[in-house]
Amino acid sequence: MTVCAKCNQQMQPLKNGVCVEEHASFGLYRIWMADAYQCEQCGAMVVTGFGLAPLWEYFEGPDARPGDPIFARFGEEEPR
Ligand SMILES: [Zn+2]
Repeated sequence: MTVCAKCNQQMQPLKNGVCVEEHASFGLYRIWMADAYQCEQCGAMVVTGFGLAPLWEYFEGPDARPGDPIFARFGEEEPR
């Protein structure tokens, strides 16, 4: 269960299976699949439910990156 701490409401699934970029100091590090939830009251959104392993890691090279659209980005590098 995912709860909005501001509204004390259970957040609702927005989209299952979203692509998320994880950045490190050197740039894009990993790409994960996860689920997006949203609070119906205030609109706050969170990404949770990450898979056990990333879809892609930097050492696999740019050609191995999945072509799915990226839903969210996080990490040390400034988001684009
Ligand atoms: Zn809320």
